[in-house]
Amino acid sequence: MDNGKCMKSFHFPLSIFHFPLYFMLILGIESSCDETAAAVVKDGNQILSSVISSQIELHKPFGGVVPDIASREHLKKIDPIVKEALAKAKVSLEEINAVAVTQGPGLVGSLLVGVCYAKALAYGLDIPFVGVNHIEGHVFSVAFENPPIQFPAFALIVSGGHTNLFFIPEAGKYKVISRTRDDAAGEAFDKVAKMLGLEYPGGPVIERLAAEGDAGKIKFPIAKISDGRPDFSFSGLKTAVSRYVRENEIRIVVANDMPSQQIKDIAASFQATVIKSLIGTTTKMAAEYQPKTLIVAGGVACNNALREAAQKLGEKLNLPVYFPSKHLSTDNAAMIAAAGYFHLQRGEKSDLRMTADVSMRLQNLDNEDAELKRKKVRYRL
Ligand code: ADP
Ligand code: MG
Repeated sequence: MDNGKCMKSFHFPLSIFHFPLYFMLILGIESSCDETAAAVVKDGNQILSSVISSQIELHKPFGGVVPDIASREHLKKIDPIVKEALAKAKVSLEEINAVAVTQGPGLVGSLLVGVCYAKALAYGLDIPFVGVNHIEGHVFSVAFENPPIQFPAFALIVSGGHTNLFFIPEAGKYKVISRTRDDAAGEAFDKVAKMLGLEYPGGPVIERLAAEGDAGKIKFPIAKISDGRPDFSFSGLKTAVSRYVRENEIRIVVANDMPSQQIKDIAASFQATVIKSLIGTTTKMAAEYQPKTLIVAGGVACNNALREAAQKLGEKLNLPVYFPSKHLSTDNAAMIAAAGYFHLQRGEKSDLRMTADVSMRLQNLDNEDAELKRKKVRYRL
């Protein structure tokens, strides 16, 4: 900005007619699961700082996230992490124009820490704040390092808690076209790793071992959904790995053992099956919906084999594929600030009655939830 100062003295509702010349600094806050994160983002697409405090080491002994431990840790970390984000961005609290916070979905105790903090901060500073859907945050994680999204777009969001393929006909409109009926893809990585005696989180370690394994060695099944919906399912795959380990008397990894070739082959075959399922369904749906951009985001999007497969699919269909960088693939607050910016620009903000929403939905088009409920179809958000 010309005078080097931001628009603290300006107040919302934001509209390009009111203040076209000023930049906007948003403080993003994320605490939905096991990362306490804060970021300062300028104009929705420039990261001035992004700080993430991961709780992985705390949850490692349990092989997964322990909700109680997670919320206590968020409480401890949120204030220092926000302060660190402001310091790294060289921005004072008074220069922040708005706060964006993850409202849901996630763990209730974890979400509440971020939501209460954000509300108190926005109230104290007398600036707007907005609650953001965490999954929409993942969609916006590609806003920083890619060209603008061409619509209609596809977003394959693959993380530890979610596996969804969204059709996005225009910015802010979401239709879920594929969802997981049981485990999320990242959860399957985590559970299979645990089964093989590998550490938590499973994704990175399985990817590392898979690189030295033979992906064609074991034929694991890809679930077919009996009602014909183009959904994902990973719990059968997890069971198939468990059966293979048992029936073939595979020696799992104990303590600091070097993983055997058999373990590496299982890792490679499992990973290839997950990717085949994700990319196979995306390919089929792309033929039907003809998207102009494919977004692949969420923690599992760190996986290089998935990135390569998605890139190949893009080349085949002449479809640009956007990934976030790895720092922005797993949970972070920059993506929350970017999604918050989008909503604030449209005049959408939250009021002080807003609270955490553990099962917050993103789809706002052709929502089939009622029909699925009637048919007693079980699925994940
Ligand atoms: P959530 O929002 O559900 O907490 P994140 O977006 O932070 O999840 O992603 C965490 C998940 O991503 C974990 O399940 C982890 O195993 C998975 N993951 C991280 N890196 C990789 C990788 N290289 N390959 C596959 N999965 C990965
Ligand atoms: Mg996430």
